[in-house]
Amino acid sequence: MIYLDNAATTRVCPEAAQAALEVMTRDFGNPSSRYALGRAAAERLAAGRAVVARALGCQAEEVVFTSCGTEGDNWAIRAALELGKRKGKHIVTTAIEHAAVLEPLRALSAQGYEVTYLRPDRSGRISPAQVQGALRPDTVLVSMMLVNNELGTLLPVREAAEAVQRSGCPALVHTDAVQGFLKVPFTPEGLGVDLLTLSGHKVGAPKGVGALYVRTGRKLPPLLLGGGQEGGLRSGTEATAQIAALAAACQAWLDRREEHTAHMTALKQFFLESLQAALPQAVVVSAGDAPHICAVSLPGYPSEMLVRELSDRDIFVSAGSACRRGKPSYVFAATGRPKWELLGTLRVSFSPENTREEAAALVSALQEIARGRVSQASRPRRVQTPTQP
Ligand code: PLP
Repeated sequence: MIYLDNAATTRVCPEAAQAALEVMTRDFGNPSSRYALGRAAAERLAAGRAVVARALGCQAEEVVFTSCGTEGDNWAIRAALELGKRKGKHIVTTAIEHAAVLEPLRALSAQGYEVTYLRPDRSGRISPAQVQGALRPDTVLVSMMLVNNELGTLLPVREAAEAVQRSGCPALVHTDAVQGFLKVPFTPEGLGVDLLTLSGHKVGAPKGVGALYVRTGRKLPPLLLGGGQEGGLRSGTEATAQIAALAAACQAWLDRREEHTAHMTALKQFFLESLQAALPQAVVVSAGDAPHICAVSLPGYPSEMLVRELSDRDIFVSAGSACRRGKPSYVFAATGRPKWELLGTLRVSFSPENTREEAAALVSALQEIARGRVSQASRPRRVQTPTQP
């Protein structure tokens, strides 16, 4: 199996699996219990929080564990609006956010909020001037992802936070850093954000755990009421095994961070160069700023068909965000690139585990598929493409 869809999810790393097993079978106490087993669980939880905080570059008290990135995004948005409810009803975001941001915002527009969606240019980038121009005295939230999950582009979050400061509007700044966490260097303070979302299963931890960074001093309304866990913000017995696994995955990544970044950067470059050499008609839709994501297109070959053909060869890549399976990607469409180019777009996303042989195998498989298709070019399923300059 060749797995090149690491922006969708990752294999759980051995350190995370080991930590989860230990907590599930040995250190399984409830952190709220007062006896030794419970105290040990509370200590392990605190140690895990400290590791995640170190990975983020923030204080441990600023990390609240959640169940996933979607929960963090939904909570951050609703909490920010609750805090700003007497100050305004305007929100600024981008047209290329994940559904975990866009869907709650869509629901909020039905409740009287006005949302400004910033659109990217052809390369998938948003300019700081666009953010500046969209801010209003009644803007109460700016939500902008750090790295786009389909294009791999970096968005100007720091500049957005600076623009909010300069404008004097009451907005809180939230960033969905699910794809940027550990992959690109940042700290929440350096970005100037109030709220930041991350998700464990994109970095070698299991599914079912994430975290929300809440800047010191921001008094969020609780997500869940009950036993008062997570500083009273999110009651419910902590998911100790998943949290221990997240901490172990973060630590394993931190131990080899530079090596991982250099490896994925080189691998992506190798893939893009090999692809263009092998298939001159291939289009690089986005080379991605983040080391692990790029998007390429094979005009004339619908993405769904490519994904299926590759899958038959035991190679897994995505036709766009896995969360929008079967539908054309609104992210690729938002770049305004021509439809003939976008119809064949694939997202290829690497992990530190991937090898050059795997990247080369993907290129060969695409070449093989293209050869097969070219020999049947007259079949009606083929999409007509204009001559490339
Ligand atoms: N935000 C981004 C940018 C993502 O890529 C994803 C997952 O694909 C999410 C949010 C949702 O995270 P989760 O799957 O942990 O809910």
